[in-house]
Amino acid sequence: MLTVRTVRQMRRAAARMRARGTVGFVPTMGYLHEGHLELVRHARARCDSSVVSIFVNPIQFGPGEDLDRYPRDIARDLRLLRAVGAGCAFAPRIGEMYPPGFATRVDTGELGRRLCGRFRPGHFNGVATVVVRLLSIVRPDVAVFGQKDAQQAVIIRRVVRDLGLDTEVDVQPTVREPDGLAMSSRNVRLSADERRAAPVLYRSLELARDLVSRGEDRPAAIRARMRRLIRTEPLVRLQYLAIVAPGDLRPVRRIAGETLVALAAFLGQTRLIDNVLLCTGRNAAGRLDTGRG
Ligand code: AMP
Repeated sequence: MLTVRTVRQMRRAAARMRARGTVGFVPTMGYLHEGHLELVRHARARCDSSVVSIFVNPIQFGPGEDLDRYPRDIARDLRLLRAVGAGCAFAPRIGEMYPPGFATRVDTGELGRRLCGRFRPGHFNGVATVVVRLLSIVRPDVAVFGQKDAQQAVIIRRVVRDLGLDTEVDVQPTVREPDGLAMSSRNVRLSADERRAAPVLYRSLELARDLVSRGEDRPAAIRARMRRLIRTEPLVRLQYLAIVAPGDLRPVRRIAGETLVALAAFLGQTRLIDNVLLCTGRNAAGRLDTGRG
């Protein structure tokens, strides 16, 4: 596996890869887990070469957020990437990505102010800016993202479409621990008690799926039941719980078609997010179908 530290080297390496075939790209902030590694395996399966970036992007963290505490272990990350057969790891220093005088931000507008954006102003502009910069360096055929960060995926799709970037955005399912907790680099920061409480988040999302499959279509009723379940774990402080259309992230009045149920919660200092994408519709037998997650 090639390990690259500078933008210049990365541009050169990517050009060589493109000359040989298709390039799949997985942007990450490192401290890799099975969720990331699944994206890398997917990129490898879909494309002739794969590039994985590891960069904790300072401009997507707000003041008082966990930039300094974000877990990092680049040596371990490189070992894991080698083991899954990644072609190239791109681990730039901050000054490579943001040279002195860097001033541009990609404005993600309304989409970036909804859900997590209400509590993390500027976060998605920071995400979109680094992703556009990375895509302009690697110029991949396919960029692979996780459904775990549903709002991020929606926004990146929009950015790529709006700016006419020549990359396909491929969103892959959330990888979970056996007890349902969505894998996250931040999970290592949970205390033992918080870790025991955390799966209630996914259980609440499963409850939503279950209620919808039994015909409940009122978001307020579903949210009330989810909140009641989450309250059984006093260590979990829900920040938001939203039932929205995946296209524009606006709350829906009734559940029909594709619907995103998304939440964020604090356990101690650690903020976790999770979501499920529900698809309801009548199947051939006229029954209500619910799928995907
Ligand atoms: P991060 O390192 O947290 O910025 O995540 C890098 C990429 O991995 C993003 O596209 C995330 O959505 C994705 N990702 C993170 N956790 C998971 C997971 N549990 N399952 C699938 N994808 C994930």
